[in-house]
Amino acid sequence: MKFSNTYIQLSDAFYQRILPSTVPEPSLLLWNESLGDRLKIDQSISQDPLLLAQYFSGNKLPEGAESIALAYAGHQFGGFSPQLGDGRAHLIGEIIDIEGIRQDIQLKGSGPTRFSRRGDGKCAIGPAIREYIMSEAMHALGVPTSRCLAVVATGEDVYRERALPGAVVTRVASSHIRVGTFQYFAAKGDMASLQMLTDYTISRHFPEIDLIAKNKTTENKSTEDKTSTSIDNEPKHRIVDFLEHVINKQIELIVQWMRVGFIHGVMNTDNTAISGETIDFGPCAMMGTYHPGTVYSSIDSQGRYAFANQPNIVQWNMARLAECLLPLVDENDEKALKKIEPLISQFSKNFEQAYFKMCSKKIGFTLDVHTDADNAEEKTANEVNNEVKDIIKNLLNIMQTQELDYTETFALLTQSLDDETAAEALKSALGDKNSNWVDTWITYLQSHKIDFNSAKKLMEQNNPVVIPRNHHVEAILKECENTGKMDKVEEFLHVLRSPYTTLPETKAFQDLPEDGDRYYRTFCGT
Ligand code: AMP
Ligand code: MG
Repeated sequence: MKFSNTYIQLSDAFYQRILPSTVPEPSLLLWNESLGDRLKIDQSISQDPLLLAQYFSGNKLPEGAESIALAYAGHQFGGFSPQLGDGRAHLIGEIIDIEGIRQDIQLKGSGPTRFSRRGDGKCAIGPAIREYIMSEAMHALGVPTSRCLAVVATGEDVYRERALPGAVVTRVASSHIRVGTFQYFAAKGDMASLQMLTDYTISRHFPEIDLIAKNKTTENKSTEDKTSTSIDNEPKHRIVDFLEHVINKQIELIVQWMRVGFIHGVMNTDNTAISGETIDFGPCAMMGTYHPGTVYSSIDSQGRYAFANQPNIVQWNMARLAECLLPLVDENDEKALKKIEPLISQFSKNFEQAYFKMCSKKIGFTLDVHTDADNAEEKTANEVNNEVKDIIKNLLNIMQTQELDYTETFALLTQSLDDETAAEALKSALGDKNSNWVDTWITYLQSHKIDFNSAKKLMEQNNPVVIPRNHHVEAILKECENTGKMDKVEEFLHVLRSPYTTLPETKAFQDLPEDGDRYYRTFCGT
């Protein structure tokens, strides 16, 4: 394992140097072999479960690793905490993966730190395995996400409502910089650290911003045009560019969540990664029956983080990030606001476009349909968009009133294109009074010359046949807790790793929850 530690090179205001706690009896429960390969972990390590258990419990640091707990702040359910930080996690270093991307290696549940407040710094086996299953499923579904490399049982109990076996989960993410990291320094008024964090984040996640700026500068120099885009403006424009890049990543992320029916459950600003990856799987869940107001988290009584409220919340979180960046954009508040504000106000429109583009793929409409190239002169792109949007909205409305399962309905829709039985099942699910929706959909495909084969292909790529259904996740976690055996998890993961293909084993995990998950509740697991 080849560790480096660029985050440590930032000032020590960014973290606490602290070792993970040692644990009495580490034993490896899960090891993510394909992720290990991506991280170029040597076979002499990856084939040695005892050594892996030592490393990924925190008992022994691998060569080159250095352990820190990161500082960050955050808005939790709308209320600001100036200091949260890694209260039960240790970043042990970074590894460059086979694609050349720098990845953080973080232990979670590895003991208390300066940021633990009243917490014990530990994690129970259930939430650790849950994070492993959910993140692996999301990765296979094609959603940007942190992943899990290992789960190690610690051999000691952690105390929640009752004693539970403890575990350490190793999380791999392209960084752990959050909106809350920016808020931490902004709230302290520590502008030097804020600037340092911004520079680091740009060079780690959005190096293209500086490349473009550099090219512009050389262009300007070569034409010796000192009047137009003054070089002095570049650093400030760079911050606006940065915010725009972050916002675009968040839009893409939430669109992908909504494609597969994912509800994060706790989209606090400290759980919003700047990289645009899904992090912190605490109370997350998959939507069963379609309803925009679906909430499963026991602590989200107001539905702040409900399925269809996720875009609004990300916009709100981006506004909080924007506030932090204002002083770096311009010393003059008003000028700074003028430059930043359009990015926030355009969010809804940009999100809507991206969302409907995604939805159109779920019903087999290829992208050129939106601009309707053939009829560009007769119809404006906007009109066509509205027609497509109406087809999508009508389908979702029907799904809501008929209380249909989100995943199953789109899978049925896909099959219905060349399977009479599925077509009949679809019509009966939508209900007699809504059967004209299918006619409108088919007519649209035909009139836009989208052949059924290519529509089906597109739909197959966008509509999973299997997701980590809540009742299966819970049943498997219970079994793991009771038996300590991981066979069922591995079997489940085997299916979840091919979410767009029906394997012989898939059927066992496709059944719907008896109550449509009406009474399902998730907990933070802290
Ligand atoms: P989360 O809800 O997991 O995003 O955590 C919110 C904050 O609480 C973060 O600062 C965590 O590090 C901290 N935290 C959560 N669980 C624990 C725990 N068991 N011990 C210490 N700190 C925790
Ligand atoms: Mg968190």
